[in-house]
Amino acid sequence: MGSPNATVLQQFILRPIMLIVIVLSLVYPATAIAAVKNVIVLIMDGCGDEQLTLARWYKGSPLALDAIRVGAVKTYNADSVIPDSASAGTAYAAGVRTNSGVVSLSPKTTTIPPAPAHTLKTPRQPCATVLEGARLLGKSTGVVVTCRISHATPATYMAHTPSRKMDEDITEQAVYQNIDVVMGGGKKYFRPQSAGGNRQDQEDLISVLQTHGYRVIQNRTELHKLDKGKVFGLFASNHLEAEIDRLECAPEQPSLAEMTRKAIQLLSANPAGFFLLVEGSQIDWACHAHDPAHLIGDLLMFDRAVQAALDFAQKDGQTLLLALPDHNTGGMSIGNQCSDHYYTRLQPEALIAPLKKMQLSAPTLWRRVGKDKTPEKIKDTVIRYWGIQLTEKDAQEILKKAEQYGKNAHNAFGEVICPKYTDIGWTTHGHTGGDIPLFACGPHRPVGLLDAPDIGRLTAEAMDLDLNLLSARLFVEARQAFPAQAVRLDHTDPYNPVVRISYHDRQASLPVNKNLLYWGEEVLPLEGVVVYLPETETTYLPVQAIQAIKGESKPLPPITK
Ligand SMILES: [Zn+2]
Repeated sequence: MGSPNATVLQQFILRPIMLIVIVLSLVYPATAIAAVKNVIVLIMDGCGDEQLTLARWYKGSPLALDAIRVGAVKTYNADSVIPDSASAGTAYAAGVRTNSGVVSLSPKTTTIPPAPAHTLKTPRQPCATVLEGARLLGKSTGVVVTCRISHATPATYMAHTPSRKMDEDITEQAVYQNIDVVMGGGKKYFRPQSAGGNRQDQEDLISVLQTHGYRVIQNRTELHKLDKGKVFGLFASNHLEAEIDRLECAPEQPSLAEMTRKAIQLLSANPAGFFLLVEGSQIDWACHAHDPAHLIGDLLMFDRAVQAALDFAQKDGQTLLLALPDHNTGGMSIGNQCSDHYYTRLQPEALIAPLKKMQLSAPTLWRRVGKDKTPEKIKDTVIRYWGIQLTEKDAQEILKKAEQYGKNAHNAFGEVICPKYTDIGWTTHGHTGGDIPLFACGPHRPVGLLDAPDIGRLTAEAMDLDLNLLSARLFVEARQAFPAQAVRLDHTDPYNPVVRISYHDRQASLPVNKNLLYWGEEVLPLEGVVVYLPETETTYLPVQAIQAIKGESKPLPPITK
């Protein structure tokens, strides 16, 4: 027993102080960092370390990426050790390992056990993305790519479809997602077939965008003039040009770095911050085709986009920047069977000399061959644009392989030329399954070896966003919210299905892929899009729509823990 004074000290002063310390340490753990204001994710599609090393030798000085290397990422998906861009993108966008070809839905089949943190109970349902979450947090959102905007990687951040090939549905969801800045290609998926576009539903999404207050721009002059507002930059009917071809073939198109810089300028006007996805989309295609010219041009331009983002992030101090491939492609190596007997003496100049002579991407080189598919024409075209003097036998081999490759005829150039005239090796025209490098800077930056879904999870956590709560708020199966017989999918117009819900003698209508609720005389804009999964005949609605139909005025469920 201590003295009475010691007991008083303990009871009335020390204990309360300790209690306060314990409570404070629970509320504010020592490691807690405030949520970031902005997140920029830059994806180099289909890339790996050897491609980056090659680009560095070619450039002759460090890459912007070199300064922020932090770790690596395991890329396998739910049922393959080698992912495609849709499943890889879903892991980054929604924090979920899924099946190849699937756009931000949970997997139907899982053959490779996921990490315990990433286990999902329900198969095939929409999984909310960090872009959708950022928007609900009041941040501005943006997507900048060099492919059509409905291609796999951007699709995973903006849309939810069972197949990456559903370009019409993906484009429509992107238009109705209330995204502030979207730049890339794919104009044909915005126009109805009746006006020369690709849309079978006959909708004119460019008019829709204009009605919603967007500027729709089509070239770099218009891009440079922009200083505020919401914008869709649609710079090509399908994909943008390869960087190496751009100035010659489409000088009116902006570069990836120009688009990135403009997107950051527009998005950073929001005091609540922003989320931006940037993709160097064609690095993957270059590696599929074994095309060093296309690869180096696009990878160095991607690095310039990284520099633009880094300049902003480092000055801002409240931005998490992540840069990484989604998977690797082509199995590229510095060194091939040709260099077996001299690799210990290989000089940088010798490595890059043949690559410096290549002035066009392989697809454009193939187009330059034209209709005259003769060995002579192949030899003329290759010496003129790639600076390599082929033999008659090489030219014949290129023609033979080109015929076998059909629509990918241009694969033949790299396949014949790289092993014989360069020190670059390739193992496959597909993807490969190795870990990929991770680059990051800013608050909440990760370190070490990560699982692909960790990228989505940590992006969300950095913004103080819970992806499970977000999915529960944006995607409720309609038949779980209303009696099954009250919900019906109206296929009267097969290309424009509408969810009809009968409730207390009134009927609500929600067009699929849009964020609209038609309710009596009113049209209510919703905070998320209506998703329809044909295979299971299920439709998913935001909680907001359900509450509006039921006349409930309670606050929407939280999306932060
Ligand atoms: Zn690919």
